[in-house]
Amino acid sequence: MKVTLIYPAVGRNEGKPYVRAWQMQPLSMAVLASLMPADVEVAFFDDRMEPIDYDAPTDIVVLSVETFTALRAYRIARRFRERGIPVVMGGYHVTLLPEEAADEADAIVVGDAEPVWKQLIADVLDGNLQARYDGRGKRVLRDIRPRRSLFADRPYQNITLVEYARGCNFTCDFCSITAFHHAAQSHRPARDVAEEMEETGSCRFFVVDDNVVSQPAKARELCRELTPLRINWVGQASIQIASDDELLAMLAESGCRGLLIGMESINAANCLRNWLVPCSSLFPSL
Ligand code: SF4
Repeated sequence: MKVTLIYPAVGRNEGKPYVRAWQMQPLSMAVLASLMPADVEVAFFDDRMEPIDYDAPTDIVVLSVETFTALRAYRIARRFRERGIPVVMGGYHVTLLPEEAADEADAIVVGDAEPVWKQLIADVLDGNLQARYDGRGKRVLRDIRPRRSLFADRPYQNITLVEYARGCNFTCDFCSITAFHHAAQSHRPARDVAEEMEETGSCRFFVVDDNVVSQPAKARELCRELTPLRINWVGQASIQIASDDELLAMLAESGCRGLLIGMESINAANCLRNWLVPCSSLFPSL
C-alpha cells in the first residue's frame, strides 16, 4: 500500500514557482509519516517548493489543510479524486469547518490524527474507509518521533522544528488555537522533547508551540531539560512573559534566542477581555 502526503501551498499559478517564503519543514507531515505501519510506502510532496505528480500511483492521498491553504488543497483533491484516488483531509481548517471539507474529501480527520490514524490505515487496507475520524478528546502526547527523513534533499531553512505542547490556555476570541483546543494546552514530557532534540543532531530549533509560556510551570520544566543541551532555539509566546523575569532568565539560559509575540493591538479599547489585565499592567499608560 502507498500513501501520498501533500502539504499544500497558499496558492499556485500552474507552471510558475511559488514565492519562496517561510520554507520551514512541515512538521505535521513527518509526524503523520511516523504513524504509518512499516509496510506502508510513503510519498511526500511539498507543494510550496515542488510540483505534485498527479499521475504517480498511490492508494490514497492525505492533505493537511489550514484556512489559508484550503482552496488550494481542494483543487489538489479534485484532481486526485477525478482519477478515483481517495483523499483524506485533516488539520485546523478541517476541524473547524468539517462540513465544508467533507464535500472535498472521501474522509476527514477532526482533532488530532494520532488517536485515529492506525484505524484509518486499517480501513483503507480493508477497503472500508469511513467518512469521518474523530481524534478529539483522545490526545496522548507521548512517543512522538517525527520521521524527518521525509524532508531529505529539500531546501528547507536550516532549523529543526520540534513540538512540546499543543494548544494554549488563553481564550483570545480571534484565535484559531483556542477555537481548536478550547483554551487547554497539553504537553509532552519535557525530557522526551530534549531527547528528541538530541537525536536530531541539530543545534538550532524552532519550538512550534503556539504559546510556549501558556503554562509557566511547564515552560520552566522545558528550560531545565534544555539548558544542559547548549542549543539555540526560538519559539512563540504571549506578552505575559515580559512580566516574568525569572522565567525570562531561565529561557535565556536554556538557549532561547527569540520569542515571536503577536500584538493584536496596543489600543486598550481593542484589547480583548483576556488581555485587558495583562495589557494594562504592562502598559500603564493605556
Ligand atoms: S495567547 Fe496567542 S495562542 Fe493563546 S489564545 Fe491568545 S492569540 Fe491564541
